Amino acid sequence: NTKVIYRGRFAPSPTGDLHLGSLTTALGSYLEAKANNGSWLLRIEDLDYFRIQPASIANILHTLELYGLEWDEEVLYQSKRIDIYREYINDIIGANKAYYCSCNRKRIKELGGIYDGYCKEKKRSPENASIRFLKHEVNSFSDRLKGIIFFSKDLAQENFIIQRKDGLPSYNLAVVVDDIYQGITEVVRGSDLENMTSHQIALYNYFELRAIKYVHLPVINNQNGFKLSKQHKAKSIPLDNIQYNLLKALKLLGLPTQKEMIYNSPQEILTWSIANWSLAKIPKVNINVSDTN
Ligand code: GLU
Repeated sequence: NTKVIYRGRFAPSPTGDLHLGSLTTALGSYLEAKANNGSWLLRIEDLDYFRIQPASIANILHTLELYGLEWDEEVLYQSKRIDIYREYINDIIGANKAYYCSCNRKRIKELGGIYDGYCKEKKRSPENASIRFLKHEVNSFSDRLKGIIFFSKDLAQENFIIQRKDGLPSYNLAVVVDDIYQGITEVVRGSDLENMTSHQIALYNYFELRAIKYVHLPVINNQNGFKLSKQHKAKSIPLDNIQYNLLKALKLLGLPTQKEMIYNSPQEILTWSIANWSLAKIPKVNINVSDTN
């Protein structure tokens, strides 16, 4: 009776410095891994060269280190794995499980954001086309924090993109290929990616692998209700006041910390947090914070 070894990961896109929202996600995935005596891996999702900021990679690594969030094993960079994603995409095409799509952003937007399968029977040429996965419906999954999550029929059946028009592998394809490659047993990430779980489970099903476990943490919004992000000018996590910011992130994850803990080292705070970690304490709804300090 072999026990499954827990393997978790934090997989930031280096589009900017870490902010309170991404630090909270990093911390949540770290604590869940360590409370399960597991490994916590770091993967830099630097595929999208239009959006990434190379300098933020160093910032993310440095910030995690300062906050005591030490990852296990080597950092995996998606930009070094393009050939591998391409092999997967070619296999899927070879198995007749994908088709070319020439629809533009405007049309998808008019549809409300979810693709309707328009190009499926149209035998589009590969030029200037994206590649879409012929998906088998995935209409729900069980989130370990939030319970059963149901998807709309359209989303459940959406033939999502596995290769973008510009030739880059899509986020959904690369994430699943890498979660499989890294042997991830549970994904802990923000609820903004909850809908993508439908697509990702569809790929697991296609590869005939058992889907892994999922925990979708609350999204941290600013006072105007927008997710903390670079786009909405979220402040970078300071490289000083580490204890203060750790306690702030722990509070967002539902851990009842004490003011006096600010005098402890980050390592002491993390050790305490691992011992006191409980999924049941995490809020299930998104959280608004003021992003002023
Ligand atoms: N790279 C994604 C992001 O930063 C997260 C990927 C994931 O956790 O599945 O939004």
